[in-house]
Amino acid sequence: MRKEILIGRTLPELHECIQTYGLPRFAAKEIARWIYQRGARDISAFTNLSKTAREQLAADFEIGISAPVKVSESVDGTKKYLYTAPGNKFVEAAYIPGKKRNTLCVSSQVGCKLGCAFCMTGKQGFQAQLSVGQILNQILSLPEREELTNLVFMGMGEPFDNTEAVMKALEILTADYGLHFSPRRITVSTVGLIPGMKTFLEESKCHLAVSLHSPFDDERRQLMPVQKSYPVQEVIDLLKLYPWDGQRRVSFEYILFRGINDTPGHVNQLASLLDGLKCRINLMHFHTIPDSELKGCSNEELIQFRDRLNRKGLIATIRESRGEDILAACGLLSTKEVNKKS
Ligand code: SF4
Repeated sequence: MRKEILIGRTLPELHECIQTYGLPRFAAKEIARWIYQRGARDISAFTNLSKTAREQLAADFEIGISAPVKVSESVDGTKKYLYTAPGNKFVEAAYIPGKKRNTLCVSSQVGCKLGCAFCMTGKQGFQAQLSVGQILNQILSLPEREELTNLVFMGMGEPFDNTEAVMKALEILTADYGLHFSPRRITVSTVGLIPGMKTFLEESKCHLAVSLHSPFDDERRQLMPVQKSYPVQEVIDLLKLYPWDGQRRVSFEYILFRGINDTPGHVNQLASLLDGLKCRINLMHFHTIPDSELKGCSNEELIQFRDRLNRKGLIATIRESRGEDILAACGLLSTKEVNKKS
């Protein structure tokens, strides 16, 4: 019989698991520490539980950490890890070391339903939801786990199309009994799925990033079909109901496409759309993908666009591209080919 997995369980869930073994309540906290903080890979390592308790637990459960099956390394030091996922599928995460921070770009789904025109994961289509344990496994099994300082949910998938699992993962990531990450070091990125965003805004303190890419309705629909169901104006109206002047931040991602969303008219419309909302715009390079007519802008064009936004009073920065040579940069993650072979 297949054993159940411990990672991905919250403290009350761990407590529920161990009740049948007659273990005291504090044992759940100890188990959480072993699996989330002390990096235990096997239940036999839980040395402050009795040998009998460990044996009983190990008969029904395993910790469930599984190492990445492949790593690709970029010339800039970025590493792309491949993990197994449900249904003989695979999922990727990108580790991006930097001078001041080391970031893991985490995936929440295998593929994605949302079909953004500029994204390889979107082209792959949706294949599976990741469970809480599979989301956390990307962090717990990371060879660089000890050096990790920041997490961004910007890998494969739309986090708020898997809200329940993502919210539980955030709880375990930030809890005292869990990985004890500061919510100020975690950013969740969404195209603006309002129901999941509302849950996140109410129940989490992590930062939010919204993929914007165009302030105009028709144009955004072409780039991001989600605009038909959740227009960006409604997303902004929702965000304006929350305070952003403390430590929690909201930012907008804006890939600059030549001849599409790079005009002074776009700058004016962005200024009007974001008026009254304390936020930052991250300008990003487009990484060319197959079967797409979209073209990226040069670095000089990004600088010009940034300066125009700054002159309008918007805080805008240019995000450095990382891992493009190993297809780990933004919008390039895809396991379509490897899934086909499996
Ligand atoms: Fe999905 Fe995000 Fe890619 Fe859009 S950009 S298709 S939401 S993974």
